[in-house]
Amino acid sequence: TPNVVDRGAAVLAESARAIKAAVDLPLQVQCEPPRDHGWFQRLRDAGADSLGMHLEAATQAVREKIMPGKATVSVDRYMDAFASAVPVFGRGQVNTYILAGLGDSAADILALAERLIALGVYPFVVPFVPISGTPLENHAPPSADFMKSVLAPLGRMLREANMKSTDIRAGCGRCGACSSLSAYEQ
Ligand code: SF4
Repeated sequence: TPNVVDRGAAVLAESARAIKAAVDLPLQVQCEPPRDHGWFQRLRDAGADSLGMHLEAATQAVREKIMPGKATVSVDRYMDAFASAVPVFGRGQVNTYILAGLGDSAADILALAERLIALGVYPFVVPFVPISGTPLENHAPPSADFMKSVLAPLGRMLREANMKSTDIRAGCGRCGACSSLSAYEQ
């Protein structure tokens, strides 16, 4: 995150405009909630097709433990930003990355997902994967059973809300390579 004022939105807008001038590809920008929500329209006008603002974990306790810096931007602050961004980008075109396996229970993740879907935000839940050489290299990844206990009900919730990854114009939810969530939307 380049700075705490626009949270990177300005450089993303400039980048989106330059990319769209060179090639007509669907584009997602990803930032933290900027102070001025007017940035969402500016990003859309610059050519961004979808927006990612990533909570990373569902509960404030886990967020503070795993990422104390980013956790200073509260879940409520993200919710306010989502409420401003969805009317600009459209329902389902704003998404948030949630890593399962960092300490949140399935119920924690699903409760947050329910609030996000009600706002029109696609909750992209992915399994945490430990990477060697990082502080969490010895943190166990979630079991397949745990992921199923999250993704099966989440897939149902998305189906019932008619919010599908295939309708996302660009970004992680559309790509889907980091999670089997889209398989549960069928
Ligand atoms: S591989 Fe796909 S889902 Fe994973 S981080 Fe990259 S764009 Fe997002």
